[in-house]
Amino acid sequence: MDLHEALDILKEEGYKYTKKREDILTFFTKEDGYRTASDLLSHMSKRYEGMSYDTIYRNLHLFSELELLESTELEGEKHFRLACGHEEHHHHFICKSCGKTKAIHTCPMNVISHDFPGYTIDNHKFEVYGYCPKCH
Ligand SMILES: [Zn+2]
Ligand SMILES: [Zn+2]
Ligand SMILES: [Zn+2]
Repeated sequence: MDLHEALDILKEEGYKYTKKREDILTFFTKEDGYRTASDLLSHMSKRYEGMSYDTIYRNLHLFSELELLESTELEGEKHFRLACGHEEHHHHFICKSCGKTKAIHTCPMNVISHDFPGYTIDNHKFEVYGYCPKCH
């Protein structure tokens, strides 16, 4: 997903466009990896005086609800990144140091679905953590 796609979804869902919201989404477009609420706060504080955690959290929550952002827990802290959007189904390797991801195109569900006869699988999550070649 890119910035325009994200802003379009925001508009379609009836949310007001604000410069702040665009700046938050731009931050995630540029960062290209998982970032924390405090990373975002320190970035936004440079542009807006008196930027509060509350505003940061409210927008992160909204953007996650609208699936503009995806989140994961790394080292006990919630991290966010721009959602991949309508790409083909895939999973991620996540670097614990720089937060960058690499797509995994093999879905384990294809293998284990045979173990669930009669069950309805609603959703699944699969992530691999470690260090990318740069951070190794
Ligand atoms: Zn992806
Ligand atoms: Zn890395
Ligand atoms: Zn999958």
